[in-house]
Amino acid sequence: MTMTCPESTHRAGPASTVALLRVLAVSLIAATAGAGWGRDAHHLVTREALLLLPPPLSDEFGQGAALENVLAKVMSPDRRVDQLRAEAQQLQDQADAADESHKADLASKANAAWAKYRQERSRHFFDIDAMTDEPPPFAAFPRDRRQAALKAAEHLLRHDPRLAAELLDEDPDRPTTTLDGTDRSRWPQLGEAALARHGTLPWVIRDQVTRLTEAFRQKRRDRIEEAMADLSHYVGDLHQPLHTTRNYDGQMTGNRGIHAAFEIYLVIRRKALSPQDLERLPPELLSPYDAVDDVVAAAIEQAGRNAEWTGRLLAADTEARRRSGITDEDVAYLKALDRDAADELFRRKDAQGLDGRQRRLLRHVDELGRILSERHDDLPRLAMGRAASMLSSLVYTAWLRAGRPNLATTAGDGAAADAKPKLISFDLVVFGAMAALLLAMLLRRRRRPPTPPL
Ligand SMILES: [Zn+2]
Repeated sequence: MTMTCPESTHRAGPASTVALLRVLAVSLIAATAGAGWGRDAHHLVTREALLLLPPPLSDEFGQGAALENVLAKVMSPDRRVDQLRAEAQQLQDQADAADESHKADLASKANAAWAKYRQERSRHFFDIDAMTDEPPPFAAFPRDRRQAALKAAEHLLRHDPRLAAELLDEDPDRPTTTLDGTDRSRWPQLGEAALARHGTLPWVIRDQVTRLTEAFRQKRRDRIEEAMADLSHYVGDLHQPLHTTRNYDGQMTGNRGIHAAFEIYLVIRRKALSPQDLERLPPELLSPYDAVDDVVAAAIEQAGRNAEWTGRLLAADTEARRRSGITDEDVAYLKALDRDAADELFRRKDAQGLDGRQRRLLRHVDELGRILSERHDDLPRLAMGRAASMLSSLVYTAWLRAGRPNLATTAGDGAAADAKPKLISFDLVVFGAMAALLLAMLLRRRRRPPTPPL
C-alpha cells in the first residue's frame, strides 16, 4: 500500500478514451435513487415556482424558451454526483486490479476521488438530527456555517468519539481531540468532516441565492437560468423529508426502502395512473412569494417541518408494509433491479404476469400513496407545493437584492451585459432598408394596372 506508480503509464491514449467513454456511459445510466426527487417532481416544483412569481419574472421565466432552459438543467446537480461517483469507481477498479508496485498511488487517487464525490453528494441533504440533540424545530442550531461545523464536531465527540478519532486520523484508544480536552485546534477540521458526512444543504441553497443575485445584477440570461435551475434542484431536495434525517432510508425504524419509494416510485406510479396530478398543483398548496431575510434560517426551519413530515411518512409506510405484506427481501430485490426495469414495474396498470414479490412491491407503493393522500394531506404534493413556494420566494429575493433589474434588456448569449447599449445597430439599419425596399416593390406591383384583355 506504499508503492507508487506514475499515472501516465496507466492512462495511455486509446485505453483512457475507452475508460472515459465508460465513465460517461455509466454516469448516464447511473441510478440517481437516493439523490433526491426524480425529474417529474423537480420539473413540477420549478414550473409552479416560476409561475408564482410577479411580473416581469413570471413573464420572462415562467414560460417559453427560458422555462425550457431551466427545466433542461434542473437535474444537473444529480448528474454531477453520478459523474464523480463513476470516476471514483473507475479509479477504485484500477487500484484493485493494479499490481503491488502501483497499488498505493492508485488507491490514494481513488480515495481523493471518493472524497470529492462525497463532498458533492453532501450538497443534496442535511441530516440535522445527526449533528444535534436538540429536538425540532432546531431553533438553536447555528446558522453560521463555521459555528454549525463546531456544533457537529461537539456532537460527534460526545456520541461517537471513535469515529471522530478515525476522521482525524488519531489513535481511537488515545485521541488528542476529546470532548473535555483543552486542545480544540482540530475541532473545525472535525466539524467539516462531519458536515461532509451529514450534509451542507442550507448553505448550498444560500450560495445559490447569492449566485442568482449576481446573475440578475449582470443581467446575464444564461447565468440566471443556470443558477435558477441549481437553486430549484436544491430547494426541491430540501423538501424531501428524508433528506434531513439520519434515518434517511427508514433503516432505523424497520422502513428500509422508503427513500426511493417516496421520492421515485410513488411519483412514477402517480404519473402513470393519474398524470394530471403532476401537471399542476392545486392553488391551496402554494403560498404567495415573499422576501426571505435569512436563507439558512429558512432552510433549517424547513428541516424542522420535515421532522414532522418524516414521522407521518414512516407511520404511513409501516401501515402500507403491513397491508401489502412486503418483506425486506422484496426491498432488496427492488434495490438490485436495473433502474429502467424498476421504473417499468411501477408504470404497470395491472399486475398481470407479475410474480409475488413484484405484486407486493406494487401494492406497497399503491397503499403508501393512498394512505398519504387520505390521511396525510397528500404529503408528496404538499412537499412539492412548499418547495415551489420557497423557490419562488428565493428567486424573488435574489431579484430584489439585485435591485429589481429590468430583464427586457437581459443579455442571453454571454455578451457582456455592461456593454454600452447602441442607439441603433448596423443589423437593424440593414434590415430596415431591406424591408423598405421590399415594401416599395410590393406597392409597385399592386399599383400596376390590370393587364388589359387581348
Ligand atoms: Zn439531488
